[in-house]
Amino acid sequence: MTVRAKDTARDPVRSRPVNRSPIEAAEAARRRMDDPAYRVEADLRRGRGAVSNPTGRYEPAQRETFDDGWDLEEALPPLPTEVIVEKPRTVITKNDSPDIGYDRSINPYRGCEHGCSYCFARPTHAYQGLSSGLDFETKIFAKPSAPELLEKELRAPNYQPGTIAIGSNTDPYQPIERRFRIMRGILEVLNRANHPVGIVTKSALVTRDIDILAQMADRQLAKVAISITTLDPALARKMEPRAASPAKRLETVRKLTEAGIPVCVLVAPVIPAINDHEIEAILKAASAAGATEAGYVLLRLPHDLKELVRDWLAEHYPDKLNHVFSLLQEARGGKDYDSNWGVRQTGVGPYAWMIGRRFETAAERLGLNKRSLKLRTDLFRPPVKETGQLSLF
Ligand code: SF4
Repeated sequence: MTVRAKDTARDPVRSRPVNRSPIEAAEAARRRMDDPAYRVEADLRRGRGAVSNPTGRYEPAQRETFDDGWDLEEALPPLPTEVIVEKPRTVITKNDSPDIGYDRSINPYRGCEHGCSYCFARPTHAYQGLSSGLDFETKIFAKPSAPELLEKELRAPNYQPGTIAIGSNTDPYQPIERRFRIMRGILEVLNRANHPVGIVTKSALVTRDIDILAQMADRQLAKVAISITTLDPALARKMEPRAASPAKRLETVRKLTEAGIPVCVLVAPVIPAINDHEIEAILKAASAAGATEAGYVLLRLPHDLKELVRDWLAEHYPDKLNHVFSLLQEARGGKDYDSNWGVRQTGVGPYAWMIGRRFETAAERLGLNKRSLKLRTDLFRPPVKETGQLSLF
C-alpha cells in the first residue's frame, strides 16, 4: 500500500452538509470505516485512541492509501510518538471567554499522547498542518523553554497576577513529561513567585510534584482537578488509552488530598449513552478519595471532532452510534455542537437538563458543591533575576 495526495474537493469532512440527521451521519461514518483508504489499520494504531487520521482542515490536499500493485505483505510497526521541540516567544495565553473561570493559561505541550477519542483540543492540530486524528496523539509539540519564558513574563513591570490554568487545553502530565519535566520547571517558578495555579490532568504523574504543590497549597496557591470519565477500565482503555486507569486516578485524588492539596473531580466529558449512567458513581468514588469540589462538561464536538467521534463509535460501539448523536443533537439545539458561550459546556433541552439535575443532586448529597476555593493573588512577588552575585544586604 502507498499513500498519495488527492484533491480536497472530495474531502469527506469539508464537503459534508452543515448538519445531517444522526442516522445519515452514522451511515456515512460506517461507510468511511469500511473504506481501507480512510480507516487506519488496527495494528498500526495499537494503543491509540483515534481510529482515523483525516487530513487537517487547512490542508490543500488530502492523503489516501491505495493498493500500489506490488502485492507485498507489509507489516508496518505501530505508530511511534514523535516529539517536536517548539521555541515560542511567550508562554502565557490570555482568553476572555466569560464561561470559564480563568483568564490565562499555559500549554507546555500541544497534542496529547493520552489520545482520548473525544478530546476537544484535537482540532487545534490543524494549525500545524496536521490531523486531529492520530497525528494529535502521535506528533507532540513540547516547549522546554516554558519555565524560563514564564519567569520573564512574571517579571514584566506591568504584570498583574491571576490564576494560571494548566491542562485546560492539553494534559501537562502526559507521558513525555516524565522525560521533559517542563511542568515541574513551571511549578518551581510559580512557587518561588507565590503565583496561583490551577491544574487539570488525567495522569498520576502529577503526584511526582506533590512536594511543590503541597507547599503552594499551604499558601492557598494551588488546586488540582482530576478528570474521571468512567470507573470501567475496559471503557477507559478504548476511550482514553494512555491516560491513567480509573483506579489510578482515584488513588491520585487520595494522594493529593492527603498531602493537603485541594482536589476537584471533573466528570468531563459526559457522553450520552456511553458514560452518562456513571455520574453518581464517579462523584461518590472521588468524594470517598477526598475530592472536595466537582464539575462536569457535556461532550463538545468542535470542527472535525464530530466525525472522529463518529468513527470511534462506528468502531467500538456501532449499535450506539445513532443513539449517542440523537441525544447530543437534542442537547445542542438540533446540531452536533453549539459553540456559543453559556451553553457549550452543558447544552440545552430535556436531556441536558436531566444530566445537570443528576449532577447537582449527587454533588449536593456528597457535599461537593459547598465551596469553590479561591486562590490567593496577594502574595505574588515577581521572581528575582539570578545574577550570580550575592546581595550585600
Ligand atoms: S488527557 Fe486531556 S488533553 Fe489529553 S487527550 Fe485526553 S482530553 Fe485531550
